[in-house]
Amino acid sequence: MGEKDHIYYLKRCIEISRESRAAGNTPFGALLTGPDGEILMEQQNIEITTGKCTGHAECTLAERASQKYSKAFLWNCTLYSTAEPCAMCTGAIYWANIGRIVYGMTERRLLELTGSNEQNPTFDLPCREVLARGQKQIEVVGPFVEIEEEAAEVHRGYWD
Ligand SMILES: [Zn+2]
Repeated sequence: MGEKDHIYYLKRCIEISRESRAAGNTPFGALLTGPDGEILMEQQNIEITTGKCTGHAECTLAERASQKYSKAFLWNCTLYSTAEPCAMCTGAIYWANIGRIVYGMTERRLLELTGSNEQNPTFDLPCREVLARGQKQIEVVGPFVEIEEEAAEVHRGYWD
């Protein structure tokens, strides 16, 4: 799968993050693709509307995926996310056994956007560092600077 394909799915994640914001949640979106690149699931952030503190898009998607698919199947799937998954979401992806993560903007860039906003006091911890302490070789692809501004645009005016 080439870089252009990754951009296609990341742009869809940006759309989902826009829908998430419109639905009253924080502007984050994720999706899961299967071994052949088909989109299996999409997920908005659900933190605010459900009052669920762990309702990040990637964590919720990993939970849903683990309830529907086997770990063996998920190892050949990819989770796409607008922003680099936080430590919690990276953990959920690890436990779901999803074999690859592709993200648009770095968590550090996200931290610049959210600052210390209490709704999202972003970690400054790359997902690769979390995974380096695990026991699986989950592949991580990102960031993609060419979509970073488009991904950031969805956050404009949200965290001020
Ligand atoms: Zn998260």
